[in-house]
Amino acid sequence: MIGDGMGLSAASAAMYTQNKPIHLERFPVVGFHKAHSANNLKTDSAAGATAFACGNKTYNSAVGINTDSTACETILEQAEAQGLATGLVVTSVITHATPAAFYAHQLLRAFNDQIAEDLLKTEVDFIVGGGKRYFDYRDGDDRNLIKELKDKNYVVRTFLEQDLGQFTVDPTKNFAYFTSNEDPLPVMQGRTYLPFASRMATTFLNQHSDKGFFLMIEGSQIDWAAHSNQADYMLAELLDFDESIGEVLDFADENQETLVIVTGDHETGGVAINPGSKRKKLKIGFTSNDHTCTLVPVYAYGPGAEHFSGIYDNTAINRKMRALLQLDTSSVSQR
Ligand code: MG
Ligand code: ZN
Repeated sequence: MIGDGMGLSAASAAMYTQNKPIHLERFPVVGFHKAHSANNLKTDSAAGATAFACGNKTYNSAVGINTDSTACETILEQAEAQGLATGLVVTSVITHATPAAFYAHQLLRAFNDQIAEDLLKTEVDFIVGGGKRYFDYRDGDDRNLIKELKDKNYVVRTFLEQDLGQFTVDPTKNFAYFTSNEDPLPVMQGRTYLPFASRMATTFLNQHSDKGFFLMIEGSQIDWAAHSNQADYMLAELLDFDESIGEVLDFADENQETLVIVTGDHETGGVAINPGSKRKKLKIGFTSNDHTCTLVPVYAYGPGAEHFSGIYDNTAINRKMRALLQLDTSSVSQR
């Protein structure tokens, strides 16, 4: 689970806005990762997610590729190939840099049309996110990728038809739900689906394969709020993401075989909780409207969680996950 731009100060602030512990406080193991990219101490979401997905550092703006521009095999692709169920649930467009790094291989994160095409090359079994326009009303060509998904055994639904909560989903098929044409709304403007979709994803994927599953859930807009230095927006997004974490932890408690890892790809905003702050009356400051280079906390829960304590590169998260899933690591570069 990736809280885009979720650093330690933002998480601390979320805790001090609540009367009771938040779900992040349920994690018994905490570590830190070094988020820098291949060419810059300041990473971006493309390079950050590629490190998690592939296990190698790459250039900022690149998704799912090595520094020599060749495609790197992602943990999601590998899990899918080995018969595990796979899923992506996000509050951005599904072609945004963070989810894209798990299924697409493009030099630039801005290539939304090509990234959408890449989503048809890997069979991601459960998909929830925005960005319907990159699949049906495309600028570059007249392909209808929604029709192509349906031809590939997907049940595809959109916000135009029904709310996500109104579906009974058949776990023997694949499921894709588009929550919006472009970016989903901020939670403060009425978006509600992330906690529900997170729970739905775990239940669906658990039934979809008896070999287990790999699921990436992103609280995408924590980063956008921090870029614009809007503390209320940032905390609302973080608490919505935390609720989703709660849903997944409840599933993991029942299931007993699920490792849950929560982290950010980088810190955004240089968030500070300034002196003079009181509970629920925080004086939140920002030192930047960009990403910063500070270490990012990693929270782990469930079997194998103990491997995530300490300080390590963001790429090590990929290697630890692959080892615990017993996926083949021979194609992963060891940088
Ligand atoms: Mg993102
Ligand atoms: Zn950002």
